[in-house]
Amino acid sequence: MWPFSSKKPSAIAQTPIFFTNTLTKKKEAFHSQKPGIATIYTCGPTVYSRIHIGNMRAYVFADLIARTLRAAGCHVRQVINITDVGHLVGDADEGQDKIEMGAKAEGLSVEALTGRYTKQFIDDLGLLNIDTTPILFPRATEYIAEQIKMVQELEKKGFTYRTHDGIYFDTSRFPEYGKLGGISEAELKTGDATTLEDRITIAAGRRIAENKDKRHPADFALWKFSSLNERRLQEWPSLWGRGFPGWHLECSAMIRAILGNEIDVHTGGIDHIPIHHNNEIAQSESVLGKPFVRYWMHGAFLTIEGVKISKSLKNGLYVSDFSVRGIHPLAFRYFLLQAHYRSPLSFSWEALEASAEALTRLWRLSATILLASKGMSVPTEAQERIITLLHDDLGTPQALAYLWEILRDEDITAKEKRAVIEAAEPILGLSLLHIPEAARLFTSSELPDAIQSLVKDREKARVAGEFEKADTLREKLRNRGYHVEDRPEGPLLTIVPK
Ligand code: AMP
Ligand code: ZN
Repeated sequence: MWPFSSKKPSAIAQTPIFFTNTLTKKKEAFHSQKPGIATIYTCGPTVYSRIHIGNMRAYVFADLIARTLRAAGCHVRQVINITDVGHLVGDADEGQDKIEMGAKAEGLSVEALTGRYTKQFIDDLGLLNIDTTPILFPRATEYIAEQIKMVQELEKKGFTYRTHDGIYFDTSRFPEYGKLGGISEAELKTGDATTLEDRITIAAGRRIAENKDKRHPADFALWKFSSLNERRLQEWPSLWGRGFPGWHLECSAMIRAILGNEIDVHTGGIDHIPIHHNNEIAQSESVLGKPFVRYWMHGAFLTIEGVKISKSLKNGLYVSDFSVRGIHPLAFRYFLLQAHYRSPLSFSWEALEASAEALTRLWRLSATILLASKGMSVPTEAQERIITLLHDDLGTPQALAYLWEILRDEDITAKEKRAVIEAAEPILGLSLLHIPEAARLFTSSELPDAIQSLVKDREKARVAGEFEKADTLREKLRNRGYHVEDRPEGPLLTIVPK
């Protein structure tokens, strides 16, 4: 049965969708838990500093999933949490709190700091054509009661123990601990991701040194106690005294509170697989007694010169850096879409500039096709093909290559090409149906032959002083959707938006 909607499905909606599930390490056909509705949860940023373009890769990836499901007729409920408490340096259970450190370093209150970087984050998502209006961005600090309740439930069921500095999850009570694996060889080569065993060993070294009361290195804090002689900027009363939640807890608690006991898709970067997501599984599944995520999906890293972009390495670039160089932010989206989400991708300014040029050409090509199609589209097999590529585990590189092939094919009509653009754009999100102002300017050599010859004829008439004829030709061009402007360097054409 059709999984998404009881309404009569369109051709797009009938094409099955496949996602690679990190849990099973297999590409699986997507079926949402409830027909017509899909729930997606994405681990959001820790808002103690600006969100860099490496993080943005993780959110464009989540956006592609949401767009794919939405374009197939599904109502998507999407959550990206905002971590504004509890994330300690190094993802382990000790060290300084990143938010507290940030607030002190910038001389701001915690609220001012997290508010500033949350707003910038959401603005940057918008610049990459991610529609943020239907996304919920809950803050961890808004769900403290739910987190405390979850620790109590775990405590009641015997999954916790107490040490001198907090309440810990006892991984020996959850035999499936660590079941989420699936880091590929290629990802391992990028350096940052290691096997689960390596991660546990590394973390063990760090953690055991800090907390000798822990029974097993993989055990993790659910609730940390405030120290008796120091007042923290963020702390809450609880049954166990003043303290704050462990970082992993917020996702489990917010998923349950906002999206329910079972969600369809959970995403994050591959760095979340070994610890954070295994800990989410341990918490949620111990409370619920059953799996809570149908499809676990993870995006590979964006690197610079072979090194992961990361806040702690301070090698970050930001979406705002692009406009300073005159590069449209969507060029970055195009750059990301050229690589599959599960492949590592290396950023360079040269590669981004090449993407910017390619996207401008694509915009202009689309603009001329949209005009020539006179608003009509004729579906063909090409439309089905591009959807099949996109539905195959978000096959954006293949879909972009195929799009170029179709749009350049002289044997395909503008109306048929328009149908392909209309099918692909809701998923690609490259503004191919609403060409940005800057790309609506053409030199005449970028135009279809028929338009080029009208421009040449008009130019001849104008130079010969035949102004009436030149004006008639200008009107003809306008009727075809082009406005001519005479510039010293030659005629410049602008698409007239309809
Ligand atoms: P964080 O604020 O560190 O928790 O990161 C927020 C999200 O960005 C997580 O899903 C990370 O996995 C992801 N992320 C961080 N750095 C990169 C990177 N260089 N490339 C891709 N994703 C990243
Ligand atoms: Zn999470």
